[in-house]
Amino acid sequence: MSAAAACAACAGALRPDVLPGTFRCTACGFLCSDLPVRINAAEAIDEDVRAQALKPIRDANFAQLLDACADLLPPGTRLLDVGCAHGWFLQAAAARGIAAEGLEPDRDMLRRAHAAGLAAREGFFPQALPEGAQYQAITFNDVFEHLPQPAAMARAVAAALAPGGIAIVNLPVAEGFIFRAARVFGRLGLRGPLARMWQEGLPSPHLSYFTAPALERMFADAGLTLVRRGELASIVTTGLYARIRYDRSVGPARAAVLYGAALAARAVAGLFPSDIQYFVFRRPE
Ligand SMILES: [Zn+2]
Repeated sequence: MSAAAACAACAGALRPDVLPGTFRCTACGFLCSDLPVRINAAEAIDEDVRAQALKPIRDANFAQLLDACADLLPPGTRLLDVGCAHGWFLQAAAARGIAAEGLEPDRDMLRRAHAAGLAAREGFFPQALPEGAQYQAITFNDVFEHLPQPAAMARAVAAALAPGGIAIVNLPVAEGFIFRAARVFGRLGLRGPLARMWQEGLPSPHLSYFTAPALERMFADAGLTLVRRGELASIVTTGLYARIRYDRSVGPARAAVLYGAALAARAVAGLFPSDIQYFVFRRPE
């Protein structure tokens, strides 16, 4: 990506942002990166530690999301969860009678989903789907921000939805308090928190940081209408220390400092927009 490339949301001009390899649209505030993606490469993450660290916040967010969308996802709904990872969302959806299947490109994650007895297909969205496949619901749980060419992805979502079907996208947003604070620290020369927000150095870093209007515009351009939007809790303290430690490059002392900073952030973050928001888009009948 060069600084001359256009914004994927509004075609405005992109300028280099605080962190090297990241860019921000001067017109709409959409951010993107060209951080390297290395799915299925040998990696420094201890997957079992990561799983233990992530599960409490993911389970809490999935329960909140499924409660908020219960009327849109009646039992029997044919649902595709893109980037299903361990399959925790598939399990939560199945417990509510939703006919959920997953799609996952990371073979280690896919093995875990299969070991749990879950229906999941290997590969990337939308190439790995059967020709002409359509679903009543498609979900992206902390996934859409990792996808290349998000505008093309939004169009692929519209094509893979049955008429009247819904897409649920939950993701970290650029308006979030923690992200904005991390950008301020980054400008002051303290880039670590912002690098973590982008997941720099991990196998699948964030390629987009959306503002709510940028995401809505991208899906509207694909023919989908926003029908619901809300916030999910962005910091759950349970498992937080382990979540910080799952990257083996973070030592105990640094982890303790990050943990303390996160607790302090949680105390004030309740006053500001949550970093994790969900958006529900519908394909017209
Ligand atoms: Zn833009």
